[in-house]
Amino acid sequence: RQEQYRKLRDVPALSLDGVQVDLHMNAGVMLDLPHVAETNAASIGLFRTELLFMVASKFPRASQQYALYKSVMDAIPDRPVTFRTLDIGGDKILPYMPRLEEENPALGWRAIRIGLDRPALLRSQLRAMIKAGAGRELRVMFPMVATVAEFKAARTIALREQDWLCRHGHGVPSDLRLGVMVEVPSLLWQLDEIAEAADFLSVGSNDLGQYLFAVDRDNKRVATRFDMLSAPMLRALAAVAAVGAVKGKPVTLCGEMGGKPLEALALIALGYRGLSMAPSSIGPVKAMLLALDVDKASHHLKSLIQSGEDGPIIRERLRDFADEQ
Ligand code: PEP
Ligand code: MG
Repeated sequence: RQEQYRKLRDVPALSLDGVQVDLHMNAGVMLDLPHVAETNAASIGLFRTELLFMVASKFPRASQQYALYKSVMDAIPDRPVTFRTLDIGGDKILPYMPRLEEENPALGWRAIRIGLDRPALLRSQLRAMIKAGAGRELRVMFPMVATVAEFKAARTIALREQDWLCRHGHGVPSDLRLGVMVEVPSLLWQLDEIAEAADFLSVGSNDLGQYLFAVDRDNKRVATRFDMLSAPMLRALAAVAAVGAVKGKPVTLCGEMGGKPLEALALIALGYRGLSMAPSSIGPVKAMLLALDVDKASHHLKSLIQSGEDGPIIRERLRDFADEQ
């Protein structure tokens, strides 16, 4: 199997009917980076910066952050990197930050909420990223955004940092793209506005599923109660892909479902043309794509979503469809 996937490395990621789907890689530590060349991933679609912070013994200084981001950029000289700003809080704790007693940490003070309330932290991270991206295209996205105003506030901070660096004679990115993670369901009802404000959208399906179904993603007792391939989730995902197409903004998905071949099939059928996944998933997803008729899959999935069936039935029917391919 592994050998078979290795052979697909240089095969273009095109479906049977010629639809191109960019397969990006998720990363979070330096050790992940050699997989970009190994898998021939289109880019790093999600670099989770919190892992660098979680292994440190105190909050990394700006110079240390810069060195880290610069070494990521240098390791991938020919492909874009999408950094995500710090996504801490909830299940991700920094040992050197005071631990808050929160009744519902998943709904608590986390990610961009911390960044906006402690702008010095967010600024130092953005400054380090922007410096590290000097002369190149740099993509930065913000996690757990719930309102368009939050995104705009974060964007303003990033653009101000870029201006400051520019005025002080530092190199800045040739093209700074600021994106939003779509993982809080409130964004589903402000899609036009968020797609106009952001340069790109990236669906965090792990959290979007958790919040859409009110199911703790880490609680085994409930985590399997809902299916990512059920109509509500698929309709939400379809709406995000559709707004990207209408507004001309790239949409990718970087949650775990993008790396599972059957789920990836559904996403491509819904209109996704970029998926970011663990390196080990790129081969299996590409193998699925090469055998897929996207047009046929889209029609089939549409009728399954309208059928009124439950998630597990949709999954079973979709698997039958995939097996017949
Ligand atoms: C997600 O929520 O789907 C996601 C990609 O982010 P994380 O898993 O790091 O929360
Ligand atoms: Mg998330």
